[in-house]
Amino acid sequence: MAEKLVIVGAGVAGVNAATKLVDSGYPGENITIIDMGKDPYRREYSEVMEGFLGAGGWSDGKLTYHTSIGGQLSKYCGEEKAMELFDEVIANFKRFHPKPEEVQCSDPQAEPEFIKPYFGLRLFPVWHVGTDYLHEIGKNWYDFLVEKGVNFVWETKVTEIHFHQKLVETNNIKLRFPYDRLIFAVGKSGIDFGKQLADDYTLPTEPKPVQIGVRFEAPQEHFQKLIDISYDFKLYRKFDEGVSLRSFCTNNNAAYVAVEETYGNHSYNGHAKKDEAFRNNMTNFGILMEIPGIEEPFAWSRELVSKVNKEGTGLYYSPTRTPSTTSEGEDVSAVSITEEQMSEVRSVFHGYYSYIDDFIDDMKKVFPTLGNDWGVYIPEVKYLSPEPLVNYENLSLNDFPNVHFVGDALSARGITVSGAQGIYVTDYILKQNQDYPDFHEHF
Ligand SMILES: Cc1cc2nc3c(=O)[nH]c(=O)nc-3n(C[C@H](O)[C@H](O)[C@H](O)COP(=O)(O)OP(=O)(O)OC[C@H]3O[C@@H](n4cnc5c(N)ncnc54)[C@H](O)[C@@H]3O)c2cc1C
Repeated sequence: MAEKLVIVGAGVAGVNAATKLVDSGYPGENITIIDMGKDPYRREYSEVMEGFLGAGGWSDGKLTYHTSIGGQLSKYCGEEKAMELFDEVIANFKRFHPKPEEVQCSDPQAEPEFIKPYFGLRLFPVWHVGTDYLHEIGKNWYDFLVEKGVNFVWETKVTEIHFHQKLVETNNIKLRFPYDRLIFAVGKSGIDFGKQLADDYTLPTEPKPVQIGVRFEAPQEHFQKLIDISYDFKLYRKFDEGVSLRSFCTNNNAAYVAVEETYGNHSYNGHAKKDEAFRNNMTNFGILMEIPGIEEPFAWSRELVSKVNKEGTGLYYSPTRTPSTTSEGEDVSAVSITEEQMSEVRSVFHGYYSYIDDFIDDMKKVFPTLGNDWGVYIPEVKYLSPEPLVNYENLSLNDFPNVHFVGDALSARGITVSGAQGIYVTDYILKQNQDYPDFHEHF
């Protein structure tokens, strides 16, 4: 019998791993995927982080295609292998897409003169799927895996993993899962669980820099000149003291700000629909600072986020505008604050907010019509919990070689890298299982 494989998290990483395995002949019946969210037929729009395809399922579906974006992959497997894995992830999204020809690629070739000398522009290709198609992709992809025999356990939260006993426990006392091998793919919504495991098993970890900022929103017309060159433009700047800033995850045309809930606090992200019916002619993107050298970066970020949450949600500041609505026509959850109240926010950011103020001031110079026609949702955060040290060959824990960490739960920060990490570990799993008779039956 092939190994009994349990995947915790039906997100981008877990789903790509399972797909590669069954495509390669691994018996689907030996794969169990547990997720606290719902299958793609029942998942609600408001369930941004949980369910089939995870945070990627309700995202904007921008598939970045460069190893310097979205976390570390080439560090583990080298540049060439990383690009091969990206290709496999993108091929999967096209394969289950109802209209694959509509997946567009933006591939800027040179930095335009007008952004210099204020900003640099990261140049890399991005494949754009769009939120609405992701729902259909999710259903097709799920049906495929179910047909291949993969077992899904929905609306069930994994609460304990006993690495020594090889046993997964859940919030449903009746549902416990023994395993031979485990893929830990809990994404951002499970980062605290990952941290808990790292503490319980004293796993060696690598510290990470803080990544924090705001989600910026403005009418698209102000940025059109740059969007024509690069759909998901990434403006960046780096300072001698080590702090760097970048615009991140740009959404256009039918662009909506999304609330993320992590550790009981709200932070912001964004997504865009393809369907013209949703067009609002807005643009939103993160302005994220990377701040190295903070002691306890994870705790620092969490404290900051909790301090800029009021009345159970995040904040909105604009010199002239009011918060937008979600794609379902509801107000984006945020407490509007005045310029005076912004001074409190600035102090909570320990002085680092001045980098964001400068970034916005310089955008006003580069995009002259922008003026005060913008707003910011505070905060946007990428929680990079300390990364567990893994065996680079298969992303397994040094002390538990049958436990693999992948996706945002490891070092990724995006769809392509997370999916690619999921596929990467399967190379090893397939080699381990090639001698089992039921494995070959499936070829
Ligand atoms: C609104 C939004 C827009 C985004 N847009 C983009 C984009 O356009 N391009 C891009 O590259 N990235 C984008 N991202 C980031 C991207 O979605 C993630 O980087 C990616 O989904 C990570 O994949 P993953 O498999 O590691 O985790 P996820 O996709 O988050 O999946 C993790 C899964 O694990 C489950 N889970 C967690 N804990 C448990 C537990 N204890 N028990 C059971 N199940 C559990 C969750 O329910 C979830 O389904 C966006 C994110 C958001 C929130």
